Amino acid sequence: MSCLFCRIAGGEVPSNKVYEDDRVYAFHDIDPQAPVHVLIIPKTHIAGTDELCADNVDVVAHIYALVPQIAKQLGLQKGYRVVTNCGEDGNQTVPHLHFHLLGGRALSWPPG
Ligand code: 5GP
Ligand code: ZN
Repeated sequence: MSCLFCRIAGGEVPSNKVYEDDRVYAFHDIDPQAPVHVLIIPKTHIAGTDELCADNVDVVAHIYALVPQIAKQLGLQKGYRVVTNCGEDGNQTVPHLHFHLLGGRALSWPPG
């Protein structure tokens, strides 16, 4: 059985879609940590940043190229944060590469 985010990208698990094209799916996080909290994922299963390599990294550039457009669509004129957690210490809970796009309030730094 495919992973949760593969099933979300494939439409088998419902989600609140923000953006979609042939390679990428973006949707609102189920447990938002900011007024805007969107997850941007590749449709291809990549477990996390540790699995990135020259053969599959193109989709990451594509995702980052979409960030300004999605941020504008969501009204994040004052700024935002893009975060990817990796592994146990990074607090990654879903093993499918995803980029959190957070905004709509002033975000603290450094993270806890
Ligand atoms: P991570 O902790 O791996 O960096 O981020 C996983 C994110 O996925 C969390 O922010 C969590 O709230 C979100 N999430 C987990 N399950 C679901 C789900 O079924 N639907 C949606 N929309 N978000 C989910
Ligand atoms: Zn997956």
